[in-house]
Parts: sequence; C-alpha cells; structure tokens
Amino acid sequence: MAKKGCSVLGCKNTNVTEPKVSLFSLPSEDDRRAIWLHLISREELQDKHAHSYVVCEEHFDPASIQGTPGRKRLRRFSVPSLKLPPRRSEDKQTQTEIKENLNKFAQTDFFVLKIEKGAQTANFLTTTLPAVQKVKEELMVCKKQLKLVTSSCLTKNTFHVLCDKFLTKPLAEIVKAQTKLKFHGKGNRYSAKYKQFCINLYYTSPQAYKLLEQALCLPNATTLARHSLPISTEVNEHLMTTLKAKVNNMTNSEKVCSVVVDAINLKTSLFYNINMDKIIGLQEVNGLQSPVLAKKALVVIIRGIFGNWQQPIGFALLGESKNSDDISNWIEQLLEKLIDVGLDIRTPGARGDDSC
Ligand SMILES: [Zn+2]
Repeated sequence: MAKKGCSVLGCKNTNVTEPKVSLFSLPSEDDRRAIWLHLISREELQDKHAHSYVVCEEHFDPASIQGTPGRKRLRRFSVPSLKLPPRRSEDKQTQTEIKENLNKFAQTDFFVLKIEKGAQTANFLTTTLPAVQKVKEELMVCKKQLKLVTSSCLTKNTFHVLCDKFLTKPLAEIVKAQTKLKFHGKGNRYSAKYKQFCINLYYTSPQAYKLLEQALCLPNATTLARHSLPISTEVNEHLMTTLKAKVNNMTNSEKVCSVVVDAINLKTSLFYNINMDKIIGLQEVNGLQSPVLAKKALVVIIRGIFGNWQQPIGFALLGESKNSDDISNWIEQLLEKLIDVGLDIRTPGARGDDSC
C-alpha cells in the first residue's frame, strides 16, 4: 500500500500513521477541485493528478461524512471546512478565477456547504450559500409584491375591502357609496339607505349638511325637501328614525303638536301592484289585509301647534266591517312611537266627516 498523506499544510495524518482516519481523494471535476484547493490553500495542485492527493476526514464537517467506520464516503458537494491553515496572501487574478468557478458551481441547487465559524472563508463565498440565496429570492418576491400593492392598479373592490378593514361600519358605508356615486355624473342614483342617511343628516343639522355637501356626493337640499317619506299602513320605522333626527333639532315649543286622524271616502277599486306583489284596495289595518273592499282611508297626521309643520305618519284602508279594536291598537302604537321620538303631543283627536 502506497503511503498517502493529507495535503492540508500542517496536517501530519497519513494512511500509515493514522490508519483509522479516512483519506479522501481530490475531486476529479476541475471546478470542485479548484474550490477544495482554494480552501486548503494548495492551488498549485490544480493540474496534478486528482487521485494522487488526498484530504483527511478531520477537515470535513462530520455531517458531510457518511458510510460505515471502515469505509467512509463523502456526501456529494462536501468541501473541507475544518482545521484549515490561515490563508496566504493571494494574487488577485487567482482570486477572481476561483470566484468565477465558485459562482458557476453555486448554480447547482444542491450545493451544500458548511463552514465552521472560525474557518478562514472568503467573504464572496458566503454570499453564494444556499440560505443566503434563498433569503435573497424571498426578498425579491416581497419587493415585487410591494410594488404591485403600491402601484396604481388598486381596484375598486380592493378599496372597498380596505374600507371595511380600517373604517367603522357606518363610515365605510358612506365612503363606499361615494365611489359608486362618483362615476354616475348628473343623474346620481342614490340608494334608499343612502337617501335615508342624507335626510337624517339634513334634519339633524342643515348647516352641517351644507358643509359636507362640498366634500361628499349628497342630493341637494331642494331634492331632499321634495323627497316625501314613504308611509304605509304599518308603523314605519324609517319614518320614525327620520322624525327623531328632526325632532332632536326642534325647540321645545316646536315639539308641541296635535295628532289628527282624518277619514277620506274612497272610490272602491282593486289593482295589483307588481313591485309589492300585493292587491291594493282591500281593507288594511296595521299591515293586515282582510278580504273586504276598502271604502275609506284613515290618515294619521301630526301637526305642529306653535311651529308651522305637518307630517302624515300612517294610513289605514277601511271597509264596511267594524274593527275598531284593530284601529285603536294601531293608533295607540303610533302614539307610543311618537312619544318615544320626543314629540310633545297635546291634542289627539279626530277630524272629518265620520267618526270611527
Ligand atoms: Zn489532514
């Protein structure tokens, strides 16, 4: 058996003196051999026969050695990293050449390199570590995503999602409504909910409404004044909310009002309302229809005693049959609501040609 000694300068291990220490031949590929030789500072061996020179196992991370104790093998792409001599000063040319080789070599995905903390490793070598490469790639992906988010391609939907995330619910609704209105031009289509908000705002404070008109898309005051509140045979919650907003802004004397119940004779006729899916013209009290033709309409109106205002708040359609209980229940409910709203009701009474 020919005597072979470790090529690392200062290492005295040979197959004769330390038979238990495994020796590994230099890699036969030129690129890999160049890296080994650079790491062990023996670049002059590059053109020698690779199998004539060996590096002992003491210079490899134990994790890169596999096989049985009698027959150890190196994992692919392992490089010497332990107990290496201090680096000699090198001429620049060799360094660039090796750097090029290293870069070429690093392009293989499974380039495994473990370097001990104290080992003499050139700075450029660490930048090609797979972990560093991975972080760099992740950074690139993050930068791309950031660019995408901050660029102008923010869609209306994304904006709405952001509104929901960062604003309170009512404010988000208003802002979202603005984006829908902004592109309609003159014939703005206000949703019922938005109209309700505008009316409430207007009645709460006309000055505030005027101020906000400059910033928000709001129907103008004359449009609002024309907008009649929908009344029905049931107690209308929408109407009550609006009324509350208005009443909150009234003086005490303006709140004093009378409730007037007026009956009007109707010409009996029936028609089918497609939108409501309902036959109109039957007796109807507090939302309940009876199969009797309506002959009269009973309208409930509130009217300011000291202030000049009035507001219809509900109606009932009545036929021949006597259902005074239903009617008085319904009017009682209306009165309760009006008191809740904050009105000062003084004279509930009836007017008109008939008593009910
Ligand atoms: Zn050695």
